[in-house]
Amino acid sequence: CGIVGYIGKRDAYSVIIKGLHRLEYRGYDSAGIVLYDGNELKLSKTKGKVSDLEAKAQEENTTIGKIGMGHTRWATHGVPNDVNSHPHFSNSGKLVIIHNGIIENYEPLKQELIKRGYAFKSDTDTEVLVNLIEEVKKKENCKLGHAVQIALNQVIGAYAIAVIDVEKPDEIIVARLGSPLAIGIGEEEFFIASDATPFIEYTSNAIYLEDEEMAIVRLHKPLKVRKIKDDSLVDPYIQELQL
Ligand code: GLU
Repeated sequence: CGIVGYIGKRDAYSVIIKGLHRLEYRGYDSAGIVLYDGNELKLSKTKGKVSDLEAKAQEENTTIGKIGMGHTRWATHGVPNDVNSHPHFSNSGKLVIIHNGIIENYEPLKQELIKRGYAFKSDTDTEVLVNLIEEVKKKENCKLGHAVQIALNQVIGAYAIAVIDVEKPDEIIVARLGSPLAIGIGEEEFFIASDATPFIEYTSNAIYLEDEEMAIVRLHKPLKVRKIKDDSLVDPYIQELQL
């Protein structure tokens, strides 16, 4: 289980695929990638190895974009198959999520969402979370970052997540509780990963999110880190990575 994300000027596909390979040691049963190609979010995912994902992404032309994210899954809810692989879209198709960890109270949240008309394609806890974020965003009519925060305050469990909204394709929202998440800070580019190995060749500046912190990773903007519980701003410690 691992996550990789990129936003900047590079070809996101190669950064992400290379990064997923570096995280293979963590163990996984499926892999997936989503890229914003300038127009829409393109997704490829499959049960199997990162090399299987590469073959599928090439075949499906999921290779173009300067922003995107990738995932290796270690199934906890729902068998390892293509549909249960991450990333997962929300019902509207506008939000997309990758997640490592477990949403323990996904069942009651899912039942509530079904009552409100949501449908689920996968058996994962993760698809519940992305739709909860969508529902909050709609109901509160708020920004994605705020919706993620409100949703996470309703969640019991462990997570490292990254979320992209097709309507705001210059930012990735990330958050962690119990699963690791590092952010690499480059020049007009950001990297996201479970550990620094996917981005150490590009930058030596990194922030490791603490538990119960989230960050808005936006192009051309300083990184903003907040506490999920009370919304207070955190002054993040930028670590110098040793090569
Ligand atoms: N609980 C999620 C799932 O089963 C994420 C598993 C993981 O950490 O990779 O899909």
